[in-house]
Amino acid sequence: MNESNLKALKCAAYYHGAQFGDFPFFFKQIEIDETFSHIEMWLRQLFQEDLSRIRSLAKTPEIKTVLESFNNEEGFLKQYDKIISGYSILFDIKEMPSLHLVDKLPEPFSCKEWDAVSVDDQDEKKFSIPKGVYYRKAVLTHCYFEFVIAHELSHWIVSLHSKSYIPYVTLFEEGLCDLLGAYILNKHSIIPIDAITNLFAYNRALKPSDSLWYAYWSYCKAAMNIALGNGFDKIRDIIKSGRGNIREFPIQGGSLNNEDDHAKSDIKNLICALLKADMLYTIPAEEFMVLKTNFQYAEEHINPEKMAKDLKISPGRLNSILANLASRGLIVIESDNMIYQPSVILSDNIKYVNL
Ligand SMILES: [Zn+2]
Repeated sequence: MNESNLKALKCAAYYHGAQFGDFPFFFKQIEIDETFSHIEMWLRQLFQEDLSRIRSLAKTPEIKTVLESFNNEEGFLKQYDKIISGYSILFDIKEMPSLHLVDKLPEPFSCKEWDAVSVDDQDEKKFSIPKGVYYRKAVLTHCYFEFVIAHELSHWIVSLHSKSYIPYVTLFEEGLCDLLGAYILNKHSIIPIDAITNLFAYNRALKPSDSLWYAYWSYCKAAMNIALGNGFDKIRDIIKSGRGNIREFPIQGGSLNNEDDHAKSDIKNLICALLKADMLYTIPAEEFMVLKTNFQYAEEHINPEKMAKDLKISPGRLNSILANLASRGLIVIESDNMIYQPSVILSDNIKYVNL
């Protein structure tokens, strides 16, 4: 295999989420044999699916275009700006860090086995290095670049919202940053969602269970549970509460028990969290009851007076519940005070909380 084919293959591998460190392994398997007896069944399937896509994609104009756009540093800087804009919108922030593509990470980080580091205002003062996101050129490869950058920018956002300087981040923050990064990538990157989830599979979920990267994944799952139960706004609120509060945030112990975890269903949960991120409503139990019991099959107008009677609540109380539901767009109240539920909205995405 010649140099340019190798490059195309590498790019295609990244396009579908393969991990850079495993590329020699990929390459060897393609050239020599295609058996993967030493890895678990699902990983084997995942690899094989990716490999067949990679084989065909490496020859297509689609992947050639991707390849060309990332041929020089300009392509990476452009993609960086796109990801940055996602964070600016979500957190309403004007000033985002600049990207430094470097041969080695600045001191005191050069000895770490990291591919990138985010240097904030406080680090700038402490270590006398210009703030920004530093990324090692040696690992500059399309999808992986975006995966790492989105994670680092999430740390940056946490720092921006932190009142005091805390030098070390917790694993829960790492998990939150992974999830937020995935959310931003899903919205603002050209990486397809299956590649994003493959990136998580290769870089996190399928790492040995005693590794640091697997611990990131465990805490990412804790964050995923929060997102699935309370909507993505809750994740944004936790991030905005700053590093000190993230350290103290109570995480449900159950979600960190990996014993019978299955990577495949975890990845499904990630997809679910990403796809439902903007569609999940959390509403008080009373509102939920009104919504579910009265609008389940309603495509016709409903009379509020009759509803209050049926529910055995006062008309005043019902009015305020209806007003809350309407303000969320979950029901529509018409000028003649008739109410209807747009059937398209009523779905499993509505959860309730007992307030
Ligand atoms: Zn991190």
